[in-house]
Amino acid sequence: MTRARPLAPEDGAADPQPDIALAMRLFAELRLRTGAGRGITRASYGLGEQIAHDMVRREARRLGLDCRIDAACNLYMTLRGRNAGPAVVIGSHLDSVPMGGNFDGAAGVLAGLAVLAGYRARGVVPPRDVTVMAIRAEESTWFGASYIGSRAAFGRLAAAELDGVLRAGDRVALGRAIDAAGGDTTALRAGAGLNPEDIAAFIEPHIEQGPVLVTRGRPVGIVTGIRGSFRHRHAVCTGAYAHSGATPREVRQDAVMAVARLAVRLDDTWQRLASEGHDLTVTFGQMMTEAGEAAFSKVAGRVEFSVDIRSQSHATLDLMRAELRAAVAQTEADCRVRFDLGAETASAPALMDRQIIADLADIAQTQGAGAEVMPCGAGHDAAVFAQMGVPTGMLFIRNRNGSHNPDEAMEIDDFAVAARILSAFCLQDHPAGP
Ligand SMILES: [Zn+2]
Repeated sequence: MTRARPLAPEDGAADPQPDIALAMRLFAELRLRTGAGRGITRASYGLGEQIAHDMVRREARRLGLDCRIDAACNLYMTLRGRNAGPAVVIGSHLDSVPMGGNFDGAAGVLAGLAVLAGYRARGVVPPRDVTVMAIRAEESTWFGASYIGSRAAFGRLAAAELDGVLRAGDRVALGRAIDAAGGDTTALRAGAGLNPEDIAAFIEPHIEQGPVLVTRGRPVGIVTGIRGSFRHRHAVCTGAYAHSGATPREVRQDAVMAVARLAVRLDDTWQRLASEGHDLTVTFGQMMTEAGEAAFSKVAGRVEFSVDIRSQSHATLDLMRAELRAAVAQTEADCRVRFDLGAETASAPALMDRQIIADLADIAQTQGAGAEVMPCGAGHDAAVFAQMGVPTGMLFIRNRNGSHNPDEAMEIDDFAVAARILSAFCLQDHPAGP
């Protein structure tokens, strides 16, 4: 891919500044209108999400942007550029988990609007169309499925999901919820959607949901890739219950010791692979003995546990599958127990576009913004765009207290740093095409 061309002075852009006041006003209105107790709730295809979509569309119309809604009710707000051809798309989601935080998702959409408002205020016309996309139903808590809106945007939502997936709480089928919000499930079933070749670049600005930027003292992060995963959510280790004082070590079938050994083996593997340069996380998030049977004076006969393994690399995930199998076999032999890992669920990793990473890093450096180049551990709509072959990037904004809770905390100054980087990015001429 050829290098992005910086904007020449004759293009007439006199350093437009993103409209941060607009974003602050919209954050406040969102908090007021979708607030529920301490947090906010914007259910996928529900009331809160609809309020958020109506608000941003109202602002987009005030700014004179072209507004379009697709069959899945995703909203596209476009400022026309000088040249025809593929657009730069800035997008994120407007739904939230129940009792979530106000910035998760919304920050990305409002950053895009702030950028386009800044262009409108100075009469700046970008080289390409710039579209802000408000994506539906990203949070899997509501329908138990990931990336519904972005997959639907590409015509990739399975008919079985439309009919078979029900919303938590009210049990409304996904297809009915989409139609009720004004969508067109007939078109979705026909597979109509965006053509990846019509998108020159997709950028998702999003609050960071981990502690890396806070720890490193950086306002923004440039994401290298979104980690994929494989998980065993319902694994079981079976040994035999026995008396803690009367049972010699060599005949014990201790399920607790076995799972602990398995965890330590995989932790050692993680350390070794990380030192060799692999991107990897290993998490045993749950370990339970049986509440009714286990006791302080008994060797444990059964432990239920979960294991979650993530990496940006397909090859590393495959390697870890083999490591897990080997560690299970070794531990079964050592501890005289049986493991049943149960079903595996998996998601594919998605690498961000190297040219976009480099362009964002150059802009951040030019603007004097300290940017951390880092992997992303949580799933985002950007993964769908990357998997569809769209050159994709993510810009993280520093955020305290994690995410998916009412205490997430983003400073507006950090949001402004991200918006300025985004503003400069959209004024570069991004050569089209995957
Ligand atoms: Zn999010």
